[in-house]
Amino acid sequence: SPPCDFRSHCREPRLAHITLPRLISIDMKNLALHWKILIALVLAFALGITANSLTEGIESKPAWFDNLEYGTRFLGTLFLNALKMVVVPLVTTSIICGIINVGGEKDFGRLGRKTLAFYAASGFFAVVTGLLCVNLLQPGEVDPDLRATMLAQESAAHQEKIAGALENASGGFRSVLEIFQRMIPSNLFIAAAEGQLLGLIFFSLLLGFFISKLPENHRESQTRFWESFNGAILAITKFIIGFAPFGVFGLVTPTIMTTGTELFGVMGQFAATVLLGLAIHAFVILPLFLKFVAREKPLKHFHAMSPALLTAFSTASSSATLPLTMECVQKRAGVSRKVTSFTLPLGATVNMDGTALFECVVVVFLAQLFGIEMGLVTQFSVVLMALLTSIGVAGIPSASLVAIIVILNAVGFPEASIATGIGIVYVVDRILDMTRTAVNVFGDSCAAVVIGKSEGETDYYPETNTN
Ligand code: ASP
Repeated sequence: SPPCDFRSHCREPRLAHITLPRLISIDMKNLALHWKILIALVLAFALGITANSLTEGIESKPAWFDNLEYGTRFLGTLFLNALKMVVVPLVTTSIICGIINVGGEKDFGRLGRKTLAFYAASGFFAVVTGLLCVNLLQPGEVDPDLRATMLAQESAAHQEKIAGALENASGGFRSVLEIFQRMIPSNLFIAAAEGQLLGLIFFSLLLGFFISKLPENHRESQTRFWESFNGAILAITKFIIGFAPFGVFGLVTPTIMTTGTELFGVMGQFAATVLLGLAIHAFVILPLFLKFVAREKPLKHFHAMSPALLTAFSTASSSATLPLTMECVQKRAGVSRKVTSFTLPLGATVNMDGTALFECVVVVFLAQLFGIEMGLVTQFSVVLMALLTSIGVAGIPSASLVAIIVILNAVGFPEASIATGIGIVYVVDRILDMTRTAVNVFGDSCAAVVIGKSEGETDYYPETNTN
């Protein structure tokens, strides 16, 4: 049909009142998903900041505030629950199908080596970037007055959580090893119920591998079963993703309403250091990988990944975002199912560039703040531990705070300053968590593209190419 000429309709008064709303509704329907999510995000920020500033300084919040918070949180929780609902079957069936399809040990080994090499390289660049930023900007070297305000900001509300985390992570370097212990779960169903993806991934890798070794008739029926199971889960995932704009609105509004933005005044330097490091990694280092290793245009990749990145930002959970990450990398970037189903579920827990960078910045920042000397050797061990612990950190909100306690313990921070330090970081953690999660997801998606290209795949970004 010919393109709709809005002005010519308007000249006809009979049609004008029908056409305008219809035009708007048609446009909203055809709007790309990432625009819808972005609009939802802007609305959420606007509403959240307005509600926060209207009730600033009021001890007991008015009823409308509570109702708005409850209503939006309800919407957000529905979406988050729906995403989490598909994570376990999505991860297991994708990996099982992926490994069956990789066929033969040679492919499997090669893909595995490439994936781990990329994860190690990008993680290493991330921690070095974090270390450089925190050493150059010195956010912890603050004047005594500001230091006192920071210490006062440390919120009592989080002390209980911190005490629990401290207990869990008191084993120093052994705690790092314990993270790996979870890789082999003693009970598969407990691992699934607790969302321990690393354990599930390990089991699914084994199952896929040994299915591919079965005699042909068994292998075929197993393959058909897992393929159709995976197909159904992917269809559910797609259905849920359609609600992302509402979900994002529901997740971000209550967060901004309750935290506001004024805390950034006190924690500004620290937050700015983290954000700068994350920005350098996402906008310089990873795009360089895309440009020079994968030979693809980074801007196209940002465009393709935008729904997943905005969702990662809103949920602060790479596991919950995984369904979107897989959809974007497969459909919008055009990477094969073989590569995505192997690299992405693994990357969502193992490859966390943003988290590793954040861990480094926090540890050195707290050392600066408490006047604890940190030589090069100690900083190097921080780098190593940040890399190792980021592998074990679960893809859920604030998960890296436990890893940070592990590192602080291992490098010999006094117990009291660990608790205080984590309390200070908690104050601004949410917004930094949202950002580092987006970087984590972006890192995984870049890995999929780089590895896919190295496997000889072509014709990426079908949407942008046809436009
Ligand atoms: N929230 C992060 C993620 O899911 C983990 C963290 O750094 O706390 O990727």
